[in-house]
Amino acid sequence: MYLIKHAHVFAPEDLGIMDVLLGGNRILKIAPELPVEEAYGVEVIEGKGKALFPGLIDGHVHILGGGGEGGPKTRTPEIVLSDITLGGVTTVVGCLGTDGCTRTMANLLAKARGLEEEGITTYVYTGSYQVPVKTLTGFVMDDIILLDKVVGTGEIALSDHRSSQPTKEEFAKIVADTRVGGILSGKAGLVNIHMGDGKGKLDFLKYILEETQISAANMLPTHINRSRTLMQEGIEYAKDFGGYIDLTTSSDPDFLEPEEVKASTGFGMALKAGVSSDQITFSSDGQGSLPIFSPDGTFCGLGVGKVTSLYREMRDGVLTEKLPLSVALKPVTINPAKLLKLSQKGRIEEGKDADLVLADENSLEIDTVIAMGKIMVCNGQVLIKGTFEAQKNHNR
Ligand code: ZN
Repeated sequence: MYLIKHAHVFAPEDLGIMDVLLGGNRILKIAPELPVEEAYGVEVIEGKGKALFPGLIDGHVHILGGGGEGGPKTRTPEIVLSDITLGGVTTVVGCLGTDGCTRTMANLLAKARGLEEEGITTYVYTGSYQVPVKTLTGFVMDDIILLDKVVGTGEIALSDHRSSQPTKEEFAKIVADTRVGGILSGKAGLVNIHMGDGKGKLDFLKYILEETQISAANMLPTHINRSRTLMQEGIEYAKDFGGYIDLTTSSDPDFLEPEEVKASTGFGMALKAGVSSDQITFSSDGQGSLPIFSPDGTFCGLGVGKVTSLYREMRDGVLTEKLPLSVALKPVTINPAKLLKLSQKGRIEEGKDADLVLADENSLEIDTVIAMGKIMVCNGQVLIKGTFEAQKNHNR
């Protein structure tokens, strides 16, 4: 059991200074002053001067690796546990990507299970960029209903040269099957949609909302901040159609494409334009391939997108966009939890999972990360390493 004393709790709403008691993998009690019961083996974590908030949810991570778009040697490696926990992330949704041939659902599911054994919570989307969707059982709906970890379909690519260029009707069928699969299994039934920079933009999503009875909560278009034009279209989609939009965090903020918008900036823009803070989520697109530039801007090769960028953009929401922490946290905690229907996640509340981040209240530098009641990161250092990370030092 852990007792976190005198922390400034953001649930994500501001609860003021509170003590929080954790037992097993749950949050047991939250109160202004809780007694220290050492006899019961309660270990105290001092939270004075620190903000305590829910562990982050990253709804789009290429946990198996992604890329391969410059040939086989550009396939990125699998993610390791500390790539995730060092960024305060305690829940990830894994997905395939452009390559639904050499990367498979069976492999994705196995990787997700492995990460869960190592201590975090994981889910996956069925399918890749491709249509027809490559599934494990043969059908989108069956994957969602029969496989515990599958919460939806994606990332399906639209408006991109790498997309299978589905018709509106083909796309509608995928969203419909995903929705019904979600209803029958009590899951989200969410379609994660990779938006490219083609001219169709969000037309297919608008078509679904105009022509069918499917709800906006079944579709999450991502990479909306890849260009100013798409960002503007995303803002209109959120305002006029009640749609949800996802902003990608992993681009290097010093080397954004001329038209690209940093996620925290995009969040600020959307709020100013009148979009509700409930309609926006962030995800990292972590472990996909990313170009690396030298300080003078010359291309030096390919790197790997970082899950830790999710935290950076949340923090920049506070430090750069001057949003209250309770608002900056929404796209990475409560909003993805609601859309993905993860009822135990995204909030600090009695009975919820003990997924927490303790950070300096001013700098927001991460101090402690707790996943399912276990301390993963302590004093900003990795405490629990992934299976093969732990052995790194012993290898010759
Ligand atoms: Zn994508």
